[in-house]
Amino acid sequence: MQTTHIEHIGIAVKNLEASIKFYEEVMGLKCYKIEEVADQKVRTAFFMAGQTKIELLESTSDDGPVARFLDKKGEGVHHIAFAVNGIEEAIKHARDKGVEAIDQQPRKGADGLDIAFLHPRSTFGVLTELCENKKG
Ligand code: ZN
Repeated sequence: MQTTHIEHIGIAVKNLEASIKFYEEVMGLKCYKIEEVADQKVRTAFFMAGQTKIELLESTSDDGPVARFLDKKGEGVHHIAFAVNGIEEAIKHARDKGVEAIDQQPRKGADGLDIAFLHPRSTFGVLTELCENKKG
């Protein structure tokens, strides 16, 4: 697998507006986009901290994946996303190594990325996102 960098850190929050306020007013970052990802039942907000992107995730329903995460673990770091070259091959590589992939094929994530998740059962507790920006 060719991993180039950490693309973003995903943080689950109960209230997007309140958390945006923290990142803007306390951390001095600028929210550059708010985007709803309907199939994941989340609303996301994005910041750049230098080279690293922060993705805030708020659930839009009581039964989405982020709602379940919040119920179980509360607010906090939800996933780490690694940029890879060739996401299809990266998924296949991980599966060949015995890692459980949540997504067998890449799908459209927020902020124009193709994404796929690896199950935290297989990744030492960290929900791991593989992503590729095919628009370059
Ligand atoms: Zn993400």
